Amino acid sequence: MSFELELDDLYRELILDHYRNPRNREPLADPDVSAEGYNPLCGDEITMELKFQDSRIADISLRGRGCSISQASGSMMTEAVKGRSVEEARRLIDEFKTMMTRPDLEPPAELGDLEALQGVAKFAVRVKCATLAWHTLEDGLQQRETGARHASHVET
Ligand code: ZN
Repeated sequence: MSFELELDDLYRELILDHYRNPRNREPLADPDVSAEGYNPLCGDEITMELKFQDSRIADISLRGRGCSISQASGSMMTEAVKGRSVEEARRLIDEFKTMMTRPDLEPPAELGDLEALQGVAKFAVRVKCATLAWHTLEDGLQQRETGARHASHVET
């Protein structure tokens, strides 16, 4: 039985929908930061760009290649943080990471559709696929604070 088939039907549909039709793929005209993420265990790659307005994520772009979990998680992440404050985005990162390491806990309601990825937490080898985009976002937010304007690279 394939990994995807072990996930709940509804969640599987949601994940496959994001994988097939990733949101927020358009490159940004004038990004403030860009970051790349790579998961060598699975070969997943993503490129992310952020545009800030005051302390808010005004726009985000994410493009990548890799397995359905890594790409769907990235697409869902862009929807979750677009328009949010940096503060809120950091809280979502923490909540998402906690969900992926503590499958025994009820995910916070704030995560919304991202709850679909909780089933992945049972498959240790796939957790890095699901968290790749989130580590890359964290890197992008860090760059904003340190004032770096060039692309950086995270390996999960
Ligand atoms: Zn993967």
